[in-house]
Amino acid sequence: MNTDDTSTYVYDLDELAASIDELRAHLPTQSALLYSIKANPHPYIVEHAARHGAGLEVSSEGELAIASAARVRANTDAEIVCTGPGKTTDYLESAVEKGAVISIESPTELTRLRELGSTGQNVLVRINATATSQRSGLQMTGTASPFGVDEQDADTVVRRVIDDGHNFRGVHLYMGSNILSEDDLVDQFEISTRIADHYVDYGSGTFIADLGGGFGHPFAAPGPRPRWQGLRRRVESLTERLSARRALVTFESGRYIAGSCGTLSATVLDVKQSKGQRFVVLSSGVNHLGGLSGLRRLPRTRVAPTPYEHGGGTPESLVGPLCTPVDVLNKQSPTNLEVGDTVTIPNVGAYGLSASLANFLSHPYPTEHIRFGGRLIATTRSQITYQEVVPT
Ligand SMILES: *Cc1c(COP(=O)(O)O)cnc(C)c1O
Repeated sequence: MNTDDTSTYVYDLDELAASIDELRAHLPTQSALLYSIKANPHPYIVEHAARHGAGLEVSSEGELAIASAARVRANTDAEIVCTGPGKTTDYLESAVEKGAVISIESPTELTRLRELGSTGQNVLVRINATATSQRSGLQMTGTASPFGVDEQDADTVVRRVIDDGHNFRGVHLYMGSNILSEDDLVDQFEISTRIADHYVDYGSGTFIADLGGGFGHPFAAPGPRPRWQGLRRRVESLTERLSARRALVTFESGRYIAGSCGTLSATVLDVKQSKGQRFVVLSSGVNHLGGLSGLRRLPRTRVAPTPYEHGGGTPESLVGPLCTPVDVLNKQSPTNLEVGDTVTIPNVGAYGLSASLANFLSHPYPTEHIRFGGRLIATTRSQITYQEVVPT
């Protein structure tokens, strides 16, 4: 395997643990936390999150395979919760086999479970809340959604779960991502708590009130983990009743947990001029980072430490190496970046490589380094090769 160290991700597991601790400090004392491995499915990250006491929220068969292997290696009995629309029979079958909790998103999934001849599963019903938030401009509730079942249909689906002989273990709500305002976070938990309160008496076993998350975090730009002064107290007062009825209040996070642990280093491959504009060509573009930004899901990248900026002038384009005009990481004030310089992009532990267009244009994958206890403990690199596909 040829190694290409012009682009390198570093994930720091101590930072991952610190983020989990910090998020816990914002949440009710008696609550559980799931790591949403969609944010970063690297096995070392998933395993470390499980070691550090997080359950695992997965949304595909592949993520389920990673989560269950990580749970074995971490030697924990971390809960695995399977979500995701359009669960296939294979996905459901492995969820059953691995003893995961299944968050049902539609009656079709219950039919598939029935066809598998499987009863007695631990099932949550994912609910798309009807209420709109009163205080804030949150657009994430009360709208049409492919996720979960609409609140007005939830009673019927819960009844069907019970009639099909499953253990109705609770409800699952998840209303949005990257929420930075404390009021907005509290608003959505107010809605999800009210729905969970309604169903708590129908459950069998410890009722799981999975209230969602959406805890915001900087992405691909410098900045500390957000802190919400009053969040714990305010959410605690919302979930008091659920906890008093022995429900396990549960939260989910990918971005906040994994965001700060990852840094991408890239090399300046070229600096060129075109019609008065400066282009800085990096070894990493949307194939390594920010593939979702083409879909307008992520803000623009800012390299750190901020290079010396020349005042004024036409903005400089920070681009990747792909032969497509989509591959623009940012337009910034002109800098003194030169060929051979290394730039670092902080806060890319979540929605970094695995959320990118890694196979597009077949550039080398970045290496991924894992640090723990101040030491490098592993280096990995994945890429589909010709030889793998066409045996010689
Ligand atoms: C994506 C997702 C998450 C994680 O979202 P973050 O913004 O990364 O915290 C949690 N739960 C569900 C159901 C999701 O789809």
